[in-house]
Amino acid sequence: THVRTLELSDEAATQRLGSALARALPHSALVFLHGDLGAGKTTLARALLRALGHEGAVKSPTYTLVEPYEIGDRRVFHFDLYRLADPEELEAIGLRDYLDGDALCLIEWPERGTGMLPSADLEIALRAAGAGRRARLWANSERGETAVAAID
Ligand code: ADP
Ligand code: MG
Repeated sequence: THVRTLELSDEAATQRLGSALARALPHSALVFLHGDLGAGKTTLARALLRALGHEGAVKSPTYTLVEPYEIGDRRVFHFDLYRLADPEELEAIGLRDYLDGDALCLIEWPERGTGMLPSADLEIALRAAGAGRRARLWANSERGETAVAAID
């Protein structure tokens, strides 16, 4: 699979990537968001949710592990596994049901769930680059490839 690299020179560019993902991703997909604290994972997820039509707040799920959204006929689950002590905890929060449903699952800090998470359709890694950010995107499935190709 080839890796796409995008330069995100400011926060607005991260938000535009979120909007592009909202257009490109299918109803059902698993997306990993990699990057250090402050890299822009939540900013990206928030912009994606807004672009799908969510009008309320988008809280960082740092303490709740997961925040659910219903936007029209779409279901989105936004995870942040930073505080996960043990990947086995994912069993207790009912991860299977989230992943098996017809939903878009966005997962910040997927590394914390290693061994419990299936392969993602799409992975996005954000890192600081000067005053901005650099995003690397790669797909592990056909629907992930389709989404990456559709991002403008
Ligand atoms: P994370 O969820 O990865 O910990 P957040 O999205 O909570 O990170 O915070 C990212 C911070 O970086 C925010 O202050 C946001 O305004 C800023 N930011 C996001 N994208 C960019 C960018 N492309 N260039 C500069 N700053 C950005
Ligand atoms: Mg975050």
